[in-house]
Amino acid sequence: MVCTILKEEIDCIFMTRQGCTYNGGHCEPVVEACEGCDHLKEVDSDYYCVTSANPAAKWNIGSCNFATHVVTQISNGDVAKVNPLKASKRAASGRS
Ligand code: SF4
Repeated sequence: MVCTILKEEIDCIFMTRQGCTYNGGHCEPVVEACEGCDHLKEVDSDYYCVTSANPAAKWNIGSCNFATHVVTQISNGDVAKVNPLKASKRAASGRS
């Protein structure tokens, strides 16, 4: 259902006819690590994430998987995107 509280015009799984069902009844603001991401939305001088109700939780165990401003850097300075599924299959077969 479309949010009517902070992220107006954004379809959200926590929004119901009775209001926001997320913890506390509204989303949490973004964290410092989110700076530069394309998913930020400014609401009343605070910034919120359009893909996550709790941005801090997205950074708890590494980089946010929805972040648009994070790139993987390998040691020779090249930038590479890694498919985690293929990487785990490669690791399981012993190839590098
Ligand atoms: S997608 Fe991730 S990095 Fe971007 S604003 Fe949302 S929580 Fe932050």
